[in-house]
Amino acid sequence: MMTASKSRTATPATHYKATRCLLCGSGDLSLALPLADSAVGNDYLRDRQPQQKFAQSLHLCGGCGNVQIEDVVNPDLLFRQYTYSTTSSLGLVEHFRKYAAEIAGQVGLTAGSLVADIGSNDGSLLKAFADRGCRVVGVDPAVEIAAHATAEGVPTVPEYFSREVAARIRDEHGPAKLITANNVFAHSDQLPAMADAVRDLLDADGLFTFEVSYLLDIVQKMLFDTVYHEHLCYHSVRSLRSFFAQHGLQLIDARRIPTKGGSLRGTVQLAGGPRTVSPEVGRLIEWEALTRLHSPETFRAYARRIDAAKEQFVAVLDRCRAAGKVVAGYGASPTVTTLIDQFDLANRLDFLVDDNPVKQHTFSPGHHLPVYPSGAIYEREADVVAVLAWQYANPITAKHRRFAEAGGRFVVPLPQLQIV
Ligand SMILES: [Zn+2]
Repeated sequence: MMTASKSRTATPATHYKATRCLLCGSGDLSLALPLADSAVGNDYLRDRQPQQKFAQSLHLCGGCGNVQIEDVVNPDLLFRQYTYSTTSSLGLVEHFRKYAAEIAGQVGLTAGSLVADIGSNDGSLLKAFADRGCRVVGVDPAVEIAAHATAEGVPTVPEYFSREVAARIRDEHGPAKLITANNVFAHSDQLPAMADAVRDLLDADGLFTFEVSYLLDIVQKMLFDTVYHEHLCYHSVRSLRSFFAQHGLQLIDARRIPTKGGSLRGTVQLAGGPRTVSPEVGRLIEWEALTRLHSPETFRAYARRIDAAKEQFVAVLDRCRAAGKVVAGYGASPTVTTLIDQFDLANRLDFLVDDNPVKQHTFSPGHHLPVYPSGAIYEREADVVAVLAWQYANPITAKHRRFAEAGGRFVVPLPQLQIV
């Protein structure tokens, strides 16, 4: 027993309950959107083994309007072994190339300007800037991916971005003309420290740009399955503007972009910096107020819509199961993990399929459904394919036209039920 308790104390905590707002520090948090507990969404396993579930209901901050997840899972459980690398997603590479061209003009980057990327992954965004003659440095705690990026010519610090890391980069390379953070800004429970680190590293006329999921899209477009433990905060322009102001920074632009079903691209300068604030910032904040985005009633209505969508979808699957049909789920991603738990689908599916080789021949987080290549819908004679990766319903049904031609049915659960 002694050894057991000793080893337990040596193990870092798996998670903690966030009792304060991760943006403004207020303790005024209330339950906004109840969601089912779930295992770590991207933890697809090579062998079946027990996995802990964590709470992922959304809570609303009465102080600044930030929306955040209930359990903050130890990032080492989420990111250290992270296998996702950007180039595995071809759409993103093209997105980064355009993004670099657009931002380079906006910031006035010249040959030799320093560009830093937080959560730089395999370095594909920074490569786009290096191709334009910029000096680049990446920061990413996924040790293997960071080492790989460094070997490929994108020097990458294998750590979380902190004031200490910012100071080291500034000592070595000087201040940054541009700091980027795409889809990682929502991943940290140390956002105040991250904002301070950005301020420390930024040049007097430099810019920080970031992309985050937009709370308004999550609510309006039924994107609740994009809630999973990697994403701690669900941002609005209102909460971001006040957050940056608290840290000596100024939100000078905010744009809605289509990434991941609906995101925000924000641009930030040092407080008192040379640029004027775009009218978009005020316009979006007004729109958020008009749509009552930060009102508890908005989330209660959202919860009712989610329940109704579940009822409809599950009724179709249950009819199929009762008729002895084989039902496959298409998609093996963290969003699918959330959807399976929220809609209680684990016992309504025979297996999952996915086109990403990394996910094939694994078991799904929490319920251990086997994941096969998508050819399994033919080999295992599925009658029905539940398109759990519903944001990709069009390419999936187009790719498997012959499944439908042979009499198979696609059932798409969201944004509204559709049977193809
Ligand atoms: Zn707050």
